[in-house]
Amino acid sequence: MMKKYVLVLSALVIMMAMGALEVDPAKAVQRDVTKMDELEHNWVEYSVDYNEVDGGTHEYTYWKNFIKRTRTCHKTHIIKTVVYYCDKHDHTKSETFLDETIHSHRHGK
Ligand SMILES: [Zn+2]
Ligand SMILES: [Zn+2]
Repeated sequence: MMKKYVLVLSALVIMMAMGALEVDPAKAVQRDVTKMDELEHNWVEYSVDYNEVDGGTHEYTYWKNFIKRTRTCHKTHIIKTVVYYCDKHDHTKSETFLDETIHSHRHGK
Protein backbone atom coordinates (compact mmCIF):
# COMPACT_ATOMS: atom_id res chain seq x y z
CA MET A 1 0.00 0.00 0.00
CA MET A 2 2.76 2.42 0.99
CA LYS A 3 4.81 1.46 -2.06
CA LYS A 4 1.97 2.37 -4.38
CA TYR A 5 1.61 5.74 -2.72
CA VAL A 6 5.30 6.51 -3.24
CA LEU A 7 5.04 5.46 -6.89
CA VAL A 8 2.13 7.80 -7.52
CA LEU A 9 3.94 10.59 -5.74
CA SER A 10 7.11 10.19 -7.79
CA ALA A 11 5.08 10.11 -11.00
CA LEU A 12 3.47 13.35 -9.90
CA VAL A 13 6.86 14.94 -9.24
CA ILE A 14 8.10 13.91 -12.69
CA MET A 15 4.97 15.33 -14.30
CA MET A 16 5.41 18.57 -12.37
CA ALA A 17 9.06 18.80 -13.41
CA MET A 18 8.11 18.28 -17.04
CA GLY A 19 5.41 20.89 -16.78
CA ALA A 20 7.87 23.35 -15.27
CA LEU A 21 10.23 22.79 -18.19
CA GLU A 22 7.48 23.50 -20.66
CA VAL A 23 6.58 26.84 -19.14
CA ASP A 24 10.17 28.00 -18.76
CA PRO A 25 9.73 31.69 -19.64
CA ALA A 26 13.21 32.12 -21.11
CA LYS A 27 12.66 29.27 -23.54
CA ALA A 28 9.18 30.45 -24.46
CA VAL A 29 10.47 33.91 -25.30
CA GLN A 30 13.36 32.47 -27.26
CA ARG A 31 10.99 30.43 -29.38
CA ASP A 32 8.76 33.42 -30.05
CA VAL A 33 11.64 35.62 -31.10
CA THR A 34 12.96 33.04 -33.57
CA LYS A 35 9.53 32.67 -35.05
CA MET A 36 9.12 36.43 -35.31
CA ASP A 37 12.54 36.83 -36.91
CA GLU A 38 11.27 35.18 -40.05
CA LEU A 39 8.85 38.06 -40.47
CA GLU A 40 9.76 41.63 -41.19
CA HIS A 41 9.76 43.94 -38.21
CA ASN A 42 8.99 47.59 -38.01
CA TRP A 43 11.25 48.60 -35.13
CA VAL A 44 10.72 52.18 -34.02
CA GLU A 45 12.70 53.78 -31.21
CA TYR A 46 10.27 53.96 -28.34
CA SER A 47 12.21 55.20 -25.34
CA VAL A 48 15.75 55.97 -24.28
CA ASP A 49 16.91 55.49 -20.73
CA TYR A 50 20.22 56.21 -19.04
CA ASN A 51 21.49 54.31 -16.02
CA GLU A 52 24.56 54.87 -13.94
CA VAL A 53 26.56 51.78 -13.09
CA ASP A 54 29.40 51.73 -10.62
CA GLY A 55 32.61 51.19 -12.54
CA GLY A 56 34.82 50.67 -9.50
CA THR A 57 37.94 52.56 -8.59
CA HIS A 58 41.41 52.70 -10.02
CA GLU A 59 44.56 54.54 -9.12
CA TYR A 60 46.47 57.02 -11.18
CA THR A 61 49.67 58.88 -10.61
CA TYR A 62 50.40 62.53 -11.15
CA TRP A 63 53.23 64.89 -10.43
CA LYS A 64 52.96 67.86 -8.11
CA ASN A 65 55.93 69.95 -7.01
CA PHE A 66 58.26 67.32 -8.49
CA ILE A 67 56.74 64.64 -6.27
CA LYS A 68 54.95 61.66 -7.73
CA ARG A 69 51.55 61.21 -6.07
CA THR A 70 48.89 58.56 -6.30
CA ARG A 71 45.21 59.26 -6.26
CA THR A 72 42.14 57.07 -6.42
CA CYS A 73 39.67 57.77 -9.18
CA HIS A 74 36.11 56.50 -9.18
CA LYS A 75 34.61 55.41 -12.50
CA THR A 76 30.94 55.57 -13.41
CA HIS A 77 29.59 53.93 -16.54
CA ILE A 78 26.61 55.48 -18.24
CA ILE A 79 24.53 52.71 -19.74
CA LYS A 80 22.07 53.69 -22.45
CA THR A 81 19.05 51.48 -22.92
CA VAL A 82 16.99 51.92 -26.06
CA VAL A 83 13.59 50.27 -26.27
CA TYR A 84 12.18 49.59 -29.71
CA TYR A 85 8.55 48.89 -30.47
CA CYS A 86 7.29 46.97 -33.47
CA ASP A 87 3.66 47.80 -34.27
CA LYS A 88 3.44 44.97 -36.80
CA HIS A 89 3.59 42.28 -34.13
CA ASP A 90 2.98 44.45 -31.04
CA HIS A 91 6.20 43.59 -29.22
CA THR A 92 9.28 45.33 -27.92
CA LYS A 93 13.00 44.73 -27.81
CA SER A 94 15.72 46.58 -25.96
CA GLU A 95 19.37 47.20 -26.59
CA THR A 96 21.95 48.44 -24.13
CA PHE A 97 25.07 50.39 -24.96
CA LEU A 98 27.93 51.76 -22.90
CA ASP A 99 27.39 55.44 -23.58
CA GLU A 100 30.38 56.83 -21.72
CA THR A 101 32.65 56.33 -18.74
CA ILE A 102 33.00 59.21 -16.34
CA HIS A 103 36.09 59.56 -14.14
CA SER A 104 35.70 61.39 -10.85
CA HIS A 105 39.12 62.97 -11.37
CA ARG A 106 40.69 64.46 -14.44
CA HIS A 107 43.84 62.60 -15.31
CA GLY A 108 45.93 61.80 -18.32
CA LYS A 109 45.98 58.04 -18.14
ZN1 LIG B 1 8.01 42.50 -35.07
ZN1 LIG C 1 40.03 57.64 -13.77
